[in-house]
Amino acid sequence: PSKAQVYFDSMEYLGSGAFGHVYKARHTLLERYYAVKVVCREEKSLREVGTLSELLHCNIVRYYTFWMEDSGQVIQSIFSSFSSRTSNNSSAKYLYIQMELCDTKTLKEWIEEKNTQSLQDSKRREEGLSIAQQIVSGVEYIHSKKHIHRDLKPENILFGLNGEVKIGDFGLVTRDDDDDDALMERTGQRGTTTYMAPEQKREKNYDRKVDIFPLGLIYFELLWKLSTVHERGAVWDDARSQKLPEEFSLTFPQENQIIESMLHEKPEDRPEASKLKAEMEMCAQTLNKQNTHQEDET
Ligand code: ATP
Ligand code: MG
Ligand code: MG
Repeated sequence: PSKAQVYFDSMEYLGSGAFGHVYKARHTLLERYYAVKVVCREEKSLREVGTLSELLHCNIVRYYTFWMEDSGQVIQSIFSSFSSRTSNNSSAKYLYIQMELCDTKTLKEWIEEKNTQSLQDSKRREEGLSIAQQIVSGVEYIHSKKHIHRDLKPENILFGLNGEVKIGDFGLVTRDDDDDDALMERTGQRGTTTYMAPEQKREKNYDRKVDIFPLGLIYFELLWKLSTVHERGAVWDDARSQKLPEEFSLTFPQENQIIESMLHEKPEDRPEASKLKAEMEMCAQTLNKQNTHQEDET
């Protein structure tokens, strides 16, 4: 039997990305649930493990261990497409990564859910800020360990089972001082570039500030209701060029200023995560004051 079969008594399919499949797995002896990500083993996937094993922070998906297997066929039907992709590679090995189990609802679904709700309410503003603050804390930590995430987008941001924000999917992470053609190639392959910093799309050399740009877009999306695909399309390109809707800047002046600074075309003009953390904390205090005022008045 495989290691997965020995240690886990159930494997239930959770989701897939471009590079791997993720399962909810129950550890037989510990009687606890984990997320197990199975990826076709390449040198690149080993980096994901290498990175994760160095990171321990409350806003980053916790990593426990990894192992290798000959088969990636946890569930036959799901893996048929996966193994055909690698069938010309006879010595294909699979990497199993055991991680903390998170909610199946990612930040992408959180945003979609908010956008179907009728009102642009103050609760969304507070929650949005809290989520942005937690992502920034995680990113500050990643940068302090000299890593760059490089793939920050709502679907890669998860929630822990207690609702805390957990940055996940470290498949594209690199060392801050690393320049590697293979990794650039992998970036180039990727379909979604909508959150990606402009210099990450066109240049080979970029730095940790590529993580600040997508965070600016995410923070905007957390606060601002974009109901239709059409509306999103119309607003998105402008936002990427630092032009946020006028109504947004009037409704959220302080947030608008922070987000604009994150969306600077030149990476060196974007703030460090540590500075953002301080600015968002000030923003939170202002919101708090406003709320207590309103409560006093009523
Ligand atoms: P990508 O194409 O984004 O690089 P990927 O193959 O690297 O994808 P992930 O993004 O890590 O895979 O995971 C794919 C999906 O599996 C996620 O969108 C999420 O729904 C689910 N998932 C990943 N990690 C976990 C986890 N720790 N707990 C619960 N679900 C998870
Ligand atoms: Mg992903
Ligand atoms: Mg990935």
